[in-house]
Amino acid sequence: LLGAAMAAVALITIIALILALVNRQSLEQPFSTKYGVVFDAGSSHTSLFLYQWLANKENNTAIVSQKQSCDVEGGGISSYVGNPAGAGESLKKCLDVAKAIIPDKQLKDTPLYLGATAGMRILNLQNQSQSDSILAEVTKTIQSYPFDFRGARILTGMEEGAYSWITANYLLENFIKHTFEGLWTHPTAGKLIGALDLGGASTQISFTPKDPLKDPNSAFHLQLYGYNYELYTHSYLCYGQDQAVKKLQAYLHTNAGASTVINHPCYHQGYSLNISLGELYNSPCVVQPNNFNPKGALLFQGTGNASLCYSLMENIVNVTGCASSPDCGFNGVYQPPVNGEFYAFAGYFYTFDFLGLAPKAPLTRVLSTIQTHCSKNWTTLLAENPSVKPKYLRDYCTIAQYIMTILLKGYKFNDSWENISFQKQVAETEIGWTLGYMLNLTNMIPAERPKTVTGVPH
Ligand code: AMP
Repeated sequence: LLGAAMAAVALITIIALILALVNRQSLEQPFSTKYGVVFDAGSSHTSLFLYQWLANKENNTAIVSQKQSCDVEGGGISSYVGNPAGAGESLKKCLDVAKAIIPDKQLKDTPLYLGATAGMRILNLQNQSQSDSILAEVTKTIQSYPFDFRGARILTGMEEGAYSWITANYLLENFIKHTFEGLWTHPTAGKLIGALDLGGASTQISFTPKDPLKDPNSAFHLQLYGYNYELYTHSYLCYGQDQAVKKLQAYLHTNAGASTVINHPCYHQGYSLNISLGELYNSPCVVQPNNFNPKGALLFQGTGNASLCYSLMENIVNVTGCASSPDCGFNGVYQPPVNGEFYAFAGYFYTFDFLGLAPKAPLTRVLSTIQTHCSKNWTTLLAENPSVKPKYLRDYCTIAQYIMTILLKGYKFNDSWENISFQKQVAETEIGWTLGYMLNLTNMIPAERPKTVTGVPH
C-alpha cells in the first residue's frame, strides 16, 4: 500500500511539474523575444533598424541582434526643408514594416528612437527653426504609431562616434563574453577595436588611445559592465563623402577662373556632368563665390587622372596644418596616435567592397587597384557594372582617393594599414551608431558588472 501511495505521489508530482512547465512556457512564449527600433536619419537617407533580444536574459547580458532593416525612400530628412510634413510621411512605410513584424501586444513596450546626424547638424547651424520643424513633423508621424516612442533628436558628433564604437565592440563581445561553461568573462583591454565611420556629411574616428588623452574635449568616458573606458572620438563635420565630392568640385571651379568647362581628374574619361552653381553651392560646407548666379551652368569633364586626383585631395583635406605636431589628425584637430585594430564601415566599406578590397588588402594592392579603377573609361565601367547605380559608380574613384588621404595623411595609418578591416556587419548586424545608442538609452549595458563575471580587471 505504501509503495502504491508513493508511486501516486510521484506521479502527481511529475504531472504538476509538467503542467507548471507548460503553463510557464505558454505564459512566456509570446514575450520571449523583445524588440527595439532606431531610425538613423542620415544626411543622404534614413534607415530603420529593428533589433531583437531574448527577454529572459534579464541580467542585462542579452545579445541583441538585428532582425530587420528598412531603407526609407527619398532623401534624408534634412532635404525636406520646403516640406517638413513630407519628412514625417516618408517614414511611414518603414514604420509599417516594423509594426508588421512585432506582435501587436508588444508594440506599446517596444522602444523607438530617431537620431539624426550630420545633415541635420548642418541644417540646425544654418536655420534652427527649419530643423526644429522637421523634427516636430517626424515626431508627429511616429507618435501616430503604437510604439513606445522615446524621442527624435540630433546626435552630437562625439555621440555618433562613441555609439558606433560601442556597437562594434558589443557585437564582437569585447566588453563581456559568455564562455562555453556559461560564465561571463571580461576580455583583455587590448582586444578593443577602433571605429572608422564615413557618412555623407561627416566622418568619425573613435578608439581607445595607448596613453591618456592630452585634450579632455576629445575624451568620451564610459563605464560598461563595471569597467571604465576613455575613448578618443572626433567627428569632422563637412568631411563626409558627399560633402567631399562637392568641395572638390567647388575647388576646381574656383581655380578655373571664368571658364565654365572644367576638367575633373577624379571623373572617368568619357564622363561629363552638367551642374548649376546653385546646386554646387547649396551647402554651408562650401564657400560661395561673391555675386554668383545660381542659374549659371558648369560642365565637368572627366580626365581620369588618378595621381592628379589623389594630389588634389590635399586642397580639401588640410594635412599640412598638422605638420608641426605628431598628435594630430587633419585640419589641425588633436588626435593621439592610432592604436590597435580598426573596423572601417559605412562609406569606407561601400567603396572598398566595390573595388574588391574588403575586408582587407595589402596597401600596394589597394593603391594599384585604385589607380587602375580611376583610369578606366566611363563607358567601359558602366558596361562592366550594369547592376551598380551610376550615381555611385561616378564617385568611387573620388571617394577612394579621399579615403586614402584621410587614412594615410590624416589619421596616419601608414605603418598600421593592415590593422584596418573594411567591414559592414558583425554577426549579421550592421555596424553604425544605432545599436549602441539603443543599448545605452535602454540601460542594456549596465555600468556595473553582472554577478557571474570572471576574469581579471585591467
Ligand atoms: P549614410 O550612412 O546614409 O550617411 O551614407 C553614407 C554615404 O554612403 C552616403 O554618401 C551614401 O550616398 C553612400 N552610399 C550608400 N550606399 C552606397 C553604395 N552602395 N555605394 C556607394 N555609396 C553608397
